[in-house]
Amino acid sequence: MPLPIVAIIGRPNVGKSTFVNRLAGDKQAIVHDEPGITRDRTYRPAFWQDREFQVVDTGGLVFDDDTEFLPLIREQALTALTEASVAIFLVDGQMGVTAADREIANWLRLQNVPVLLAVNKCDNPEMALAQAAEFWELGLGEPYAVSAIHGSGTGDLLDELITYLPSMDEIEVVEEIKVAIVGRPNVGKSSLLNAFLGETRAIVSPISGTTRDAIDTVVERNGNTYRLIDTAGIRRKKNVDYGAEFFSINRAFKAIRRADVVLLVLDALDGVTDQDQKLADRIIEEGRAAVVVVNKWDAIEKDSYTIYEYKKHLQNRFYFLAWAEAIFVSALTGKRVKNILDIVDTAAEEHRRRVSTAVINEVIQEAVTWHTPPTSRQGRQGKIYYGTQVSTQPPTIALFVNDPKRFSDNYRRYIESQFRQQLGFMGTPIRIFWRGKKARDLEHSPNRATKVK
Ligand code: GDP
Ligand code: GDP
Repeated sequence: MPLPIVAIIGRPNVGKSTFVNRLAGDKQAIVHDEPGITRDRTYRPAFWQDREFQVVDTGGLVFDDDTEFLPLIREQALTALTEASVAIFLVDGQMGVTAADREIANWLRLQNVPVLLAVNKCDNPEMALAQAAEFWELGLGEPYAVSAIHGSGTGDLLDELITYLPSMDEIEVVEEIKVAIVGRPNVGKSSLLNAFLGETRAIVSPISGTTRDAIDTVVERNGNTYRLIDTAGIRRKKNVDYGAEFFSINRAFKAIRRADVVLLVLDALDGVTDQDQKLADRIIEEGRAAVVVVNKWDAIEKDSYTIYEYKKHLQNRFYFLAWAEAIFVSALTGKRVKNILDIVDTAAEEHRRRVSTAVINEVIQEAVTWHTPPTSRQGRQGKIYYGTQVSTQPPTIALFVNDPKRFSDNYRRYIESQFRQQLGFMGTPIRIFWRGKKARDLEHSPNRATKVK
């Protein structure tokens, strides 16, 4: 379920991360520690009264020269703002209004998002009102005096904040499955898109997406809503200045990033090419669900072995995508095109599915009974204490172990395959984090660092 997003904006050092910690409490962001996955923003779940939301801190940038950091902040903030329901602009009440605050305020006023102005570091209630009053000049309405460190003033701010957030009922209603159609030129993406438009009811067509020039098409079928992502990108190649050879892989990457489910379209006559593998790699890195659509199946000469052999070819070239279902279709004749969205529905469900901690630990117990974890040369054995699913989209499982270094790649693959076999998760990648005991102790007992000797 997509929760509304609250973006926190402001100069470095005004207290954004302190403020986010205050809002989100001990609800940790999921930090992806796999190589190749770069998250420039972290989302943390939070709630106030009956409203849930996610907080995104646009910071993480520290530059000492105002003029240098402004364009960067703006870029980060813009990305966060495009998806935010409301923004909180945080300023430093002890420092007073700065030139950078004015610039950010001017820019924020031009954006299409409601902005609440929070004046932080108003630690002393007696001075708070006066400190905050100075910020009326930014022209963003009432400045709320808060102290991220002490928590004072945040209640009033949050009361106001939630009036901008949809209620939980409304959130259910807007739920939609975001589908990206990607593939090399001429594999039949626009033909497929047209086939979808034929069998669905277009609700809004076309509407602008969050990426600058992306145009999405939103359609409905059997009560489900699908947002077909960046359909402009699919049609764009028809322009004369884009030859058939032109393949904007970055555009495809952006579409993948925004999707829940990616349709990776192949040309049956060409089979899996290197470019297809690149797209598949990216789907996995981004943790998106996927369906492999082998199009132009009508153009293949077939006998009773063809499909079997073709599946073997897919297994060889897409072995890392074994979890994705493949479907053989023809956009030209319409054959099996109807079934694509059924598979998309299943993949989207699996992508969001949550498995109980009890079930996960059953799988672990069973797995280690069959195949005990490796023992190091010093005779120390790897131990898995327990596991739990820490997030969805994609399903992410944290395993708490005595020492991650004791688990070889082989053993990790074995455990992953056990999860696959027992839990299914067809159509979605799964992530597994191996967490050592040491790292956990440090996280939960900050005092430890001061305990010398
Ligand atoms: P960010 O760069 O905007 O994320 O700022 P941080 O959250 O890292 O905070 C910058 C500094 O301001 C840190 O030293 C914080 O301890 C301090 N700070 C944050 N909130 C408050 C507050 O409410 N009062 C005071 N006095 N200091 C604060
Ligand atoms: P895109 O570049 O991926 O959007 O591909 P198009 O949808 O423009 O299709 C490229 C070419 O392949 C066109 O000439 C289509 O008529 C043809 N084509 C698309 N789907 C099929 C199919 O299922 N079978 C056959 N034989 N040709 C197809």
